[in-house]
Amino acid sequence: MEYYESSKTQNETGGDWKMKLLHMVTFLLTVVGAINWGLVGLMDFNLVNAVVGSMPEVEKVVYILVGASAVYLLLTHKKECRVCTK
Ligand SMILES: [Zn+2]
Repeated sequence: MEYYESSKTQNETGGDWKMKLLHMVTFLLTVVGAINWGLVGLMDFNLVNAVVGSMPEVEKVVYILVGASAVYLLLTHKKECRVCTK
């Protein structure tokens, strides 16, 4: 078991770096998505549409990424959160 673990160490270090990046990217995307909804509600202004609306495919991808990010945070939140685990 230990033998297996040590041979995996290098991969896991790289994994941590990727997890951190993934966490930051998904967090930012979720926040941007939420703020976008706030702007839609407050001022009928869709920021995502204003920025990439000229490229409907890209706009759609942004919405899908925001949704996927929220699912990712939903699934990983408990493990990372210091409030929930108390
Ligand atoms: Zn929490």
